[in-house]
Amino acid sequence: MKELEQVEESIRNACAKSGRDRSEVRIVAVTKTHGPEVVAEACAAGLMLIGENKVQEAMWKKPQCASCLSWHLIGHLQTNKVRHALATFDYFHSIDSAKLLDKIETVSEELGLRPRVLLEVNVSGEKSKSGMKPEEVPFVLEHAMMECPRIEVQGFMTMAPFSTDPESSRPYFRRLKELQIQMRKVSGLYLPELSMGMSGDYQVAVEEGATFVRLGTVLFGARPKVRRQVASDDLGLEVCKYVD
Ligand SMILES: *Cc1c(COP(=O)(O)O)cnc(C)c1O
Repeated sequence: MKELEQVEESIRNACAKSGRDRSEVRIVAVTKTHGPEVVAEACAAGLMLIGENKVQEAMWKKPQCASCLSWHLIGHLQTNKVRHALATFDYFHSIDSAKLLDKIETVSEELGLRPRVLLEVNVSGEKSKSGMKPEEVPFVLEHAMMECPRIEVQGFMTMAPFSTDPESSRPYFRRLKELQIQMRKVSGLYLPELSMGMSGDYQVAVEEGATFVRLGTVLFGARPKVRRQVASDDLGLEVCKYVD
């Protein structure tokens, strides 16, 4: 995959610039709205972490894909989809409330799972963005430590406001890094992961300490305008199928 070579070079440059090791940064290949053939393409290029933002779409795609892949939920999770999400995803980037943690804990206990999660933080304060406020983070983290023994909180995730200038994302990424340092101190948890940076700003995110970059467009081109066929599965959950 030619695009990946370019991305690799950018990540290596950003690591060199900031004195980091390339092995500290992992690429989550964002395949949302693409079909299983794009997941296969990612897999063939050695990208094993697959990012999807919708539970139903991933439920439809995953059985058609190689079983060695790791599925990362990067979109908002509703409490009524937690059970399906836990059965589908290995990693959760977008957990944004104590209520959601409670639901994940309950279902994980039932299913014998130990999910790894990141707390999504709305560092910019933009109303359209999901994620908790930075000042809520200590309380949600404490809640996770006290009440959710099955859940492993591994760090934080954020999205910078949309911009065509990657530099404009830097203050938000820097603030998430500061929050990580602060929360490590107060909680005593390791919290190693920072999921930040997308196609437009991942170099800046790596310079500021990202351990996961979530990349779609820069790897796979513009996402297809899709017509979504929605069917119901036997649990009454909507299942998406994409046709072009
Ligand atoms: C779609 C999406 C991405 C990838 O966006 P690109 O700009 O295509 O790289 C990353 N993170 C989240 C949360 C997304 O929804």
